[in-house]
Amino acid sequence: KENRKKQNSYYDINRRAGRCFYDNLVQRKNEALDYLIKRGLTIKTIRSFGLGYALNGWNHLMNYLIKEGFKKEDIEKSGLIVENKQKDGHYDRFRNRIMFPIFDIRGNVIGFGGRVLDDSLPKYLNSPETSYFNKREVLYGLHIARKHAENKQGILVEGYMDVIILHQYGFKNTIATLGTSLTKDHAMLLKRYFNEVVICFDGDKAGTKATLRSIEILQNVDIDIKVIILPENIDPDDFINKNGKTAFEEKIQHALSFIDYKIYLSEQKYGSGSLEDQVKFGKAIAAIIKEIKSPIEQEAYIKKIEEKFHISKDAILREIYGRKTNVN
Ligand code: ATP
Ligand code: MN
Ligand code: MN
Ligand code: MN
Repeated sequence: KENRKKQNSYYDINRRAGRCFYDNLVQRKNEALDYLIKRGLTIKTIRSFGLGYALNGWNHLMNYLIKEGFKKEDIEKSGLIVENKQKDGHYDRFRNRIMFPIFDIRGNVIGFGGRVLDDSLPKYLNSPETSYFNKREVLYGLHIARKHAENKQGILVEGYMDVIILHQYGFKNTIATLGTSLTKDHAMLLKRYFNEVVICFDGDKAGTKATLRSIEILQNVDIDIKVIILPENIDPDDFINKNGKTAFEEKIQHALSFIDYKIYLSEQKYGSGSLEDQVKFGKAIAAIIKEIKSPIEQEAYIKKIEEKFHISKDAILREIYGRKTNVN
């Protein structure tokens, strides 16, 4: 009885499904493997992340799992099959998609992300949330990255492919959220394994917004934060495929402190040179400096700003603390 219960457990079903997807990918002739190879993945990488392919039929996975001895109601609970509206049957949730198993920290498969092979929408589809699978507390790649945190530095990216490609290039300390914004739970998890997080999100508006949001969240768990800025419309996957490993290493070496990142964004925003923008820039800088709690750190940044932007220390301090306060 115990055995049977185990056989129908959530983890077993997901692991078996992952096996089915993997076999579909590597054993059958289909465009999915070509797609992944074209994107630069090696067979070794495909195997270590357990990537797979959901065939383009309605019941392939369901029939496979039933043949393996799993009960339809348990398979349905895993989210891998969906009851159809007429309630006279079920169909596979994932069809004609590249499958990314999602692992928990112990290496159990707790869900999947599935990507289309073309430009159709939605680009990614995830397993539904269950008591075993909560996106707010899962970091993709962490089951591997936690073993590669020697220098206590983690690289935080946006996507599955970013994680996988960076691991392939040797940056095995890379992790991602599952397309959701970073939560307090994610931050606490990161704090458990790393002392420093290097945020490297996509070089677009959404990436910038998510970076600022993540900085706020990470500040609450007292972890060191660095930021990498990628070229316009380039994500880490694009960047490393185009520029190689050394270029990404340099990006990490020259990652900005989050203060410098915010200053950089203000520079971008108010860099026109008009008097009006100069004023706005100065005020934005003062607001950033105001946030720094350590007086020594504050002083260091003010010095840097005086030299680089020719805004006087006096003006910055008065902007922050008002005319009458004598902070020295
Ligand atoms: P690719 O390189 O394969 O195009 P990507 O990772 O660069 O993928 P993005 O559009 O940058 O794709 O999205 C980042 C991440 O957000 C994805 O890896 C995925 O986890 C999540 N995501 C994107 N689109 C969706 C969606 N429609 N539904 C759910 N999650 C999504
Ligand atoms: Mn993006
Ligand atoms: Mn991307
Ligand atoms: Mn991408």
